[in-house]
Amino acid sequence: MKLSLLGATGSIGTQALEVVRGLCRDEPGAVSVEVLAAHSNVGRLERQAREFKPKAVALFDPAAAKDLRDRTRDMDIQVLAGMEGLCEAAAWGSADTTLNAVVGMVGLLPTLEAIQSKKKLALANKETLVAGGSLVVEAARQNGVDILPVDSEHSAIFQCMQGCPGVRAVKRIILTASGGPFFGWDAERLRGVTPQQALRHPNWDMGAKITIDCATMMNKGLEVIEAAWLFGLPPERIGVVVHRESIVHSMVEFVDNAVMAQMGTPDMCLPIQYALTYPQRLACPTPPLDLAALGKLTFFEPDEESFRCLPVCIQALKRGGLVPAAANGANEAAVQLFLEGKIGFTDIPQLVEAAAQAQADQVPSNVEEVLEADRAARRYVWQAAGQERA
Ligand code: NDP
Ligand code: MG
Repeated sequence: MKLSLLGATGSIGTQALEVVRGLCRDEPGAVSVEVLAAHSNVGRLERQAREFKPKAVALFDPAAAKDLRDRTRDMDIQVLAGMEGLCEAAAWGSADTTLNAVVGMVGLLPTLEAIQSKKKLALANKETLVAGGSLVVEAARQNGVDILPVDSEHSAIFQCMQGCPGVRAVKRIILTASGGPFFGWDAERLRGVTPQQALRHPNWDMGAKITIDCATMMNKGLEVIEAAWLFGLPPERIGVVVHRESIVHSMVEFVDNAVMAQMGTPDMCLPIQYALTYPQRLACPTPPLDLAALGKLTFFEPDEESFRCLPVCIQALKRGGLVPAAANGANEAAVQLFLEGKIGFTDIPQLVEAAAQAQADQVPSNVEEVLEADRAARRYVWQAAGQERA
C-alpha cells in the first residue's frame, strides 16, 4: 500500500503510523508512506518525515511550512503549504490510499480531491460527511471509490455487515456511546463544567475537539449523520445506546432480529488498520479482549434532555440539505470558544441548535454552498457570543 496520511501529527495520525510500523515489521515494505500532512506541528512532522521518508510533507500553516522547509534542507523531500498543499497531498500521484485524519470541516476539500483522484479513502474526518455528505457520497459513486470508515462505531457496523446480503436485510443499526465524563449529570450541574473537566474522557485518548464533542454528546449526533451517509439509512433506522465500557463498538440489527456486535478493547489501532487492510484481517497492536476480567457490560438510554446536541443533530439530519453543515460549523466555532473560556459548556448545544434553526432549507448543489453554510453558522455563533472574528 502507498499511503497519503492527512492529520499525521494528531491522535489518529500517530496511531495510524503505529499501525504502519506494525504492518511493516510483519512484512517489510508492506506500506510505503508517500506523503504526510498536518496543520502546524513542525517538530512532530519533521520527526515523522525522518522516520518514514515520504516524498512530500504538507503544512496548512504557511509560516510553519516555511520553517519545515528550512529544517529539511538536508532531505530529498518536497514541502507543500496551505489548502492547496493539503489537497495536493490528498491526491498525491504515487499514493493509492488516502487516510484523512484531519480534524474539522477543513477536511472536506481534500476528501473530494482524494475521491476525484480515485484513491481508496479511509475516512476518520467525520465532519466531512456531516457537512458535505451528499456531495462526497455522490462523488465516490461517480468515481467508483470505496469509503472505508475509521470511526470505531462505523468500522464496527461495517465489520458486522460483512457478508450481509444488502441494506434491505438490515432493520437498523445501533451506535454505542460511552456517555462521556458527565454521564448521569443534569442540565443544572452541566452548567458549571470547565474545559479542564470536559477534556478528561473516561475511555479514549483523543484530540481536544472530539473529546469536547464526546462530553456534549455532539460526537454521537455527528456519528448518526455520518452513519446515515456511509450506510444509506434514514434517521429512523439509526439508534443510539449508552454503553459505559466502550467494549461493544456498535451493532447491526437484522430483519430477523439477529443482532451482530463488534467488540474489542477500546483502541483506535484496530479500526484504523481494518480500513487500511480491508478485506484482510492481520495481527494488530490493539490488546486482546478479556471479557471475564471485565465481568459485565452495561447499556442505558441516552439522556436527550441534558445532552441536547444529540437530538439537535438528529433533527438536522431529518431536515437535511445544508442544516447538518450549519450544525457542524456552529459546533466547531462553539467548541473553540468554550476551550478559550469565552462561553459556558451548556452554551454549546444552545448555539448549535440556534444556528441550525437559522439555516434555510436548501439542498447543496456544489461545495461552495456547503462552505458558505459553514461560514454563516460560525458567524452566527461568534455574533451570539459577542466574539466578532475575521
Ligand atoms: P487531533 O486534534 O489529535 O489531530 C488533528 C490533526 O489534524 C493534527 O494532525 C492536526 O495538525 C491536523 N489539522 C488540523 N487542522 C488542519 C488543517 N487546517 N490542515 C491540515 N491539518 C490539520 O484530532 P484527532 O486525531 O483526535 O481527530 C481527527 C479526526 O478523526 C476528527 O475528525 C475526529 O472526529 C476523528 N476521530 C478521532 C478519533 C480519535 O480517537 N482521536 C476517533 C474517531 C474519529 P497539527 O498537529 O499540526 O495541528
Ligand atoms: Mg466514534
